[in-house]
Amino acid sequence: MEKHIVLLPGDGIGPEVTKAARQVLQAVADRYQHTFTFESHDIGGAAIDQHGTPLPDDTVQAAKKADAIFLGAVGGPKWDQLPGHMRPEKGLLGIRKQLGLFANLRPVQAFQQLLHASPLKKEVVENSDLLIVRELTGGLYFGQPSERRNNGQEVVDTLAYERHEIERIVDQAFQSARVRRKHLTSVDKANVLESSRMWREIVEEKKADYPDVTVEHMLVDAAAMKLVTNPSYFDVMVTENMFGDILSDEASVLTGSLGMLPSASLNEQSVGLYEPVHGSAPDIAGQNKANPIASILSTAMMLKHSFGMEEEAEQVQTAVTGVLQEGYHTADIDLKNGVKVSGSELAAKIVDQI
Ligand code: ATP
Ligand code: MG
Repeated sequence: MEKHIVLLPGDGIGPEVTKAARQVLQAVADRYQHTFTFESHDIGGAAIDQHGTPLPDDTVQAAKKADAIFLGAVGGPKWDQLPGHMRPEKGLLGIRKQLGLFANLRPVQAFQQLLHASPLKKEVVENSDLLIVRELTGGLYFGQPSERRNNGQEVVDTLAYERHEIERIVDQAFQSARVRRKHLTSVDKANVLESSRMWREIVEEKKADYPDVTVEHMLVDAAAMKLVTNPSYFDVMVTENMFGDILSDEASVLTGSLGMLPSASLNEQSVGLYEPVHGSAPDIAGQNKANPIASILSTAMMLKHSFGMEEEAEQVQTAVTGVLQEGYHTADIDLKNGVKVSGSELAAKIVDQI
């Protein structure tokens, strides 16, 4: 197959992990006789420096034409003093919105080889294998107006959802649950928020369409606790934008590092943007320390969700597991009897296995 992939490396460790992702995709193309073409564009702080805007038109146009998009990370202290609309993060929020990427899929799997790398007890993290389905284009992050009033004495953020926005993410979650262990937990704060009460109603309406899936509602505070006391309880969790953001960073603790978590962001046509869950990690940027696995697992999601290449995706997963099995890991993983290597060395080992 021929596929055209747009790369948006961004800032901090973004370019390092994007390089690893590209090498892995190229290795897959070589092994399975596909042709993948790549085109890089600026986003975030890098785009502010080059073009004076975090999301140049060029980048949006290229992304719209791509078969799939890979994004590294955006942001960093260099751009922290800029006004809100000029921040690197606006590039990321903007591309999600422009491409209608409303469904963010974040699988969290505790690798057998890394159970001791988690600060949680091995017995707790063992067998955790869950998927967080996060709504990505609504809620507080896109509320209007978000502003300071009354000479800065009052502040407003708005949590708004339209019915159809909730319906489509709930449908996505039910469909994801269907091809997994068929257990869906809808997470909200219905005891306090009106948006959560509507969310609950919609989940209740939808469940008739998916009789094979068991559904329950859980308050976000209870879910946050259960995620670290009994994570293997969960199969698929679906929730609004900000709850999903917070819960997925929390869930990364199960894997031993934020550097292990991949994500896919899909729209209604299933054009996907794939990116590691972690940010630009300015503290380790340029030192070849970044763990490339979150990005490499994101390419596996790309192969599966955007290209329908199940076997190829499986091969990438197997290569990652194989390298972990041999004991190799980057510095973010706290393991006593492993072999610590640089980010590029780890990526090369994974490429070799493919
Ligand atoms: P954002 O606001 O963009 O989500 P963040 O504030 O959550 O960013 P990150 O950039 O994700 O922060 O980094 C949080 C911590 O995790 C940092 O100490 C960083 O070095 C570490 N970290 C993140 N990603 C990786 C990675 N791929 N490899 C190693 N360490 C990482
Ligand atoms: Mg973060």
